[in-house]
Amino acid sequence: MTSKAKISAKTISVDVAIVGAGFGGLCMAIKLREAGNEDFVILEKAAEVGGAWYFNGYPGAACDVQSHLYSFSFAGKADWSKRYAPRDEIENYILDTVEQYQLRPFIQFNQEVNEAHFDETTGRWTVRTAAGMTIDCRHFVLASGPLHVPNVPSIKGLKRFKGKVMHSAEWDHSYDLVGKKVVSIGTGGSAIQYCPEIAPKVKKLSVFQRSAAWVIPGMSVAIGESSSACSNASRRYANCIGRGSTGVMNRGWRRPPARRRPNCWVPCASSSSACKSKTRRWRKS
Ligand SMILES: Cc1cc2nc3c(=O)[nH]c(=O)nc-3n(C[C@H](O)[C@H](O)[C@H](O)COP(=O)(O)OP(=O)(O)OC[C@H]3O[C@@H](n4cnc5c(N)ncnc54)[C@H](O)[C@@H]3O)c2cc1C
Repeated sequence: MTSKAKISAKTISVDVAIVGAGFGGLCMAIKLREAGNEDFVILEKAAEVGGAWYFNGYPGAACDVQSHLYSFSFAGKADWSKRYAPRDEIENYILDTVEQYQLRPFIQFNQEVNEAHFDETTGRWTVRTAAGMTIDCRHFVLASGPLHVPNVPSIKGLKRFKGKVMHSAEWDHSYDLVGKKVVSIGTGGSAIQYCPEIAPKVKKLSVFQRSAAWVIPGMSVAIGESSSACSNASRRYANCIGRGSTGVMNRGWRRPPARRRPNCWVPCASSSSACKSKTRRWRKS
């Protein structure tokens, strides 16, 4: 089982072809090696590993799951700088993991898969890339990710708009936002991270949302900064979690007595009635 020697050829034959060098594809590769199978290739359309974390570099980009949980269970990292690590640190973690597990020789960069056929008589796949590679394989794994492709809404008149337009996933860092009037659309995970970063720089920031989102304080304390900061944040987090959510994160957190429950949910930037009513309802409970 040695595919590494054959990889430079335009047509290769392997046991497993994996599409994508994000967390999913890399994990598959690590587990294949662990099982003793080195007869595989990772086909990646980008020029580097990382997937969503390679493509997204907007200001304030960071994990919104605690970093000790947002890492491979078998490749823990003890020195995350913050509870919710910034994007660059996550990218470095991915790069380090690729080196640690010696995955680079298995990856073919700039290879966008655009065709795959299964032959029932041979039980094998023929996979083709836009750059002209053909891969004959027995197993074909799609780890192509759900979220790395920017979704630009079709807004009437957008094409005629004379100002700068950018998607958070394609942030133009050369464009200076200082003193500009900015409209931000959406209040999902990305906007919630970049809006606080750009707000102090711009002249005016207007945030539009279709559906109201719950927003809680970030509480991304530096790890090891001060134990009291940590425990205060943990307590506030526990209080918030204890008030409403269920499931894994709820277990182990004690629900505080009603009179001590803080107003930990804050209204989002919008003054929409849906948002306000949710906030009011929450505060009464
Ligand atoms: C801005 C942002 C922040 C996020 N934050 C969090 C978070 O805090 N916590 C959390 O749990 N999740 C978060 N996510 C979700 C994130 O998508 C997953 O956590 C995880 O990174 C997905 O890994 P993946 O390998 O499945 O996909 P991806 O990371 O998307 O990787 C897919 C890879 O496949 C490649 N690919 C796709 N199609 C082809 C093709 N045809 N040919 C060749 N290569 C191809 C892509 O180039 C990419 O490198 C976030 C997502 C985004 C976009």
